[in-house]
Amino acid sequence: MKSNNNINRREFLGYFGCCACGLMIPSCTNAPITDRRQLKLIPESTLNRQAAQLYERVKAKTKLSDDKKQLEEIKEIGSKIEESVSSYFDSAGKKDPTYNFQWEYILVDNDKIKNAWCMPGGKIAVYTGILDITKNKDGLAAVMGHEIAHAVAKHSVERASRALILNVGTAAVDIFTGGAISNTQRTTGVDVAGMLRTFGIDNPFGRKQESEADYLGLIFSSLAGYDIRESVKIWERMKESYKGQEPPEWMSTHPSSDRRILSLKKWIPEIIIKYPPIKKIG
Ligand SMILES: [Zn+2]
Repeated sequence: MKSNNNINRREFLGYFGCCACGLMIPSCTNAPITDRRQLKLIPESTLNRQAAQLYERVKAKTKLSDDKKQLEEIKEIGSKIEESVSSYFDSAGKKDPTYNFQWEYILVDNDKIKNAWCMPGGKIAVYTGILDITKNKDGLAAVMGHEIAHAVAKHSVERASRALILNVGTAAVDIFTGGAISNTQRTTGVDVAGMLRTFGIDNPFGRKQESEADYLGLIFSSLAGYDIRESVKIWERMKESYKGQEPPEWMSTHPSSDRRILSLKKWIPEIIIKYPPIKKIG
């Protein structure tokens, strides 16, 4: 009887003991292309819904730029990347990780913030401050490719799941699992910046995730037909622009620029050959 129990227990653990996920087998998946194992405890649909709500708050609470031409360029680059990502996974016979995305783009009028982000589900913001650094379409495509890659690789789902496991970041867990946003909507004076941070958008991802977003971002920009060599120049310009000062927010939320430039330089030649621009059919 006792030994049976032991066997059963062992079988049970063998069956359910998938990485750190304990009882939840379906919660372990692999990141697209890199195949890195990921922990996913929180349904992506929940996160996308919450992100969409928060995005509406951002649109209502922040000053959006009236530079239509610049916004059009952002949308043009974005839709090229969108199409390329979908075509790539379709042609590889893999499930398109963005099939449930509802892409949207805003340009935030703030020259002091050199930042951009993409929320789960494809809600994107570019701040006017980063345009000095990106300079051209290839540069903007590099930054957008990186931010989109975080969403494609579901890094926020992973981060929220880890927070749940470690039982830290209660505010984040509250948002991911329930009604924190609907609660805050009832209060006045919503701190959008604080919420973004809690939500994990305007916040550093882990080093592996950052490096994965750099790698996948290069792939997506290359598939979309942009010159990915510009990504190295962006980091050089970013360094130059903040010479001798505290690193800017966008930079501080990412690994050191020297380290990143080295990796980019290593990956670029291989990616240009392996992931050439996707030809549109028809
Ligand atoms: Zn990043």
